[in-house]
Amino acid sequence: MELIFEKSKDKRGCDILPSCDVPVVEPDGKYLRRKELHLPRMSETDISRHYTELAGCTYGINNGFYPLGSCTMKYNPKVNEETANLPGFLNIHPLQTAHTVQGCLEVMKLAEEYLCEITGMDYMSLQPAAGAHGEFTGLKLIRAYHRDRKDDKRTKIIVPDSAHGTNPASAAMAGFSVINIPSTKEGYVDLEELRKAAGEDTAGFMLTNPNTVGLFDRNILEITKIIHDAGGLAYYDGANLNPIMGIARPADMGFDVVHLNLHKTFSTPHGGGGPGSGPVGCRAILEKYLPAPRIQKKEETNESIGRVKEFYGNFLVVVKALTYILTLGGDGLKKASENAVLNANYMMNQLKNTYPVPFEGPCMHEFVMSLEELKKETGISALDIAKVLLDYGIHPPTMYFPLIVHEALMLEPTETESRETMDRVIAIFKKVYEEAQTNPQGLWDSPKNTPVGRPDEVTAARNPILRYTF
Ligand SMILES: *Cc1c(COP(=O)(O)O)cnc(C)c1O
Repeated sequence: MELIFEKSKDKRGCDILPSCDVPVVEPDGKYLRRKELHLPRMSETDISRHYTELAGCTYGINNGFYPLGSCTMKYNPKVNEETANLPGFLNIHPLQTAHTVQGCLEVMKLAEEYLCEITGMDYMSLQPAAGAHGEFTGLKLIRAYHRDRKDDKRTKIIVPDSAHGTNPASAAMAGFSVINIPSTKEGYVDLEELRKAAGEDTAGFMLTNPNTVGLFDRNILEITKIIHDAGGLAYYDGANLNPIMGIARPADMGFDVVHLNLHKTFSTPHGGGGPGSGPVGCRAILEKYLPAPRIQKKEETNESIGRVKEFYGNFLVVVKALTYILTLGGDGLKKASENAVLNANYMMNQLKNTYPVPFEGPCMHEFVMSLEELKKETGISALDIAKVLLDYGIHPPTMYFPLIVHEALMLEPTETESRETMDRVIAIFKKVYEEAQTNPQGLWDSPKNTPVGRPDEVTAARNPILRYTF
């Protein structure tokens, strides 16, 4: 599509400005611009169409299927927005005195309590603004805990090679060094490798369960015991909580600290750069280190790791998540998790004879397919399949993650998709597989219906052209 500058025509315009109602003052000449200001000139109709066309280029869960594995792109109920738009929540300022915002503080307290109940943790902080930010915060708690006990040799965080990239990155940012351990060929934590890695220098261990290949690690009690026996703490990456709400709790698995992604599990928008929320929960032993200020009736302790975000975190995101929790209730959350698992298993079983699934057995909320064989046979890669899906109006699955699967496509339908939608997508996946055999060139030429086809992704990321040169 044309840029607004390319559509611009001299002398067009729609500037209907009110007449000046303040004294006119001539500005000092040194403040006047010397070069012409390139403002696009268009009629109001054309401007309106231009932005409507742009809005049509965005893709979200309200446009269609969005199986981006590991991201839990579930539908965000509109009632969440309505609650967050109530004037009592919207028109407040974080510096207002506490007695004028008691209702809002109560909302946060209630959200903390429910999130504690869901995870089994004793305390929760709503401050962190994203999952990765929660990881950083949780690891700082672990660091403060060991320091307080003068156990300064605990400088290492163990992370399995199936982990999300943010795990080792957060550990490094929090001042730890990272030990990567390989997974078993079935995709689980390798207990022998873990025993070898754990020791006197272990500060902690990070894991998401179900893990990034969509499998629940049944050895979890043994895993957290190995870490505790070595004197470390266990960190639960809660990004994959969606299949186990109301069914299993990180605290019961032996974890000491957890983050949640409200924009994944609790149906708040992923934001496109807008506000997210990554609350951190912990056991009582870590409470005193939680970010300050806390919502509580007693004095702050000064052992807190400090603020990780201004004020109380993204309050309105929490309002939306609390609305979701209250709308569904305990039974509803459990049902949501069960349906997330059912949908993923349905799609996996319909597709696994076409696209090999490298890990046996029922999956949880997501599954990984490997296109390694297809690529050897036809030259069609996971990227090519992802690109052609765009022409069908489907958001591609997660590609090339987790790293331990070659030519990976990872699908997470979530519980909010109907059987009809999944059947349609399954049929498209099968059709594309046929095309890979019969007409690979057609796939390499895709996508054909999008504003941009196949950009040079490295250049687009490293040297994006963000200005129009006249
Ligand atoms: C999404 C995700 C994260 C990071 O969460 P953000 O909110 O994107 O910062 C961490 N771990 C896993 C497994 C994830 O899927």
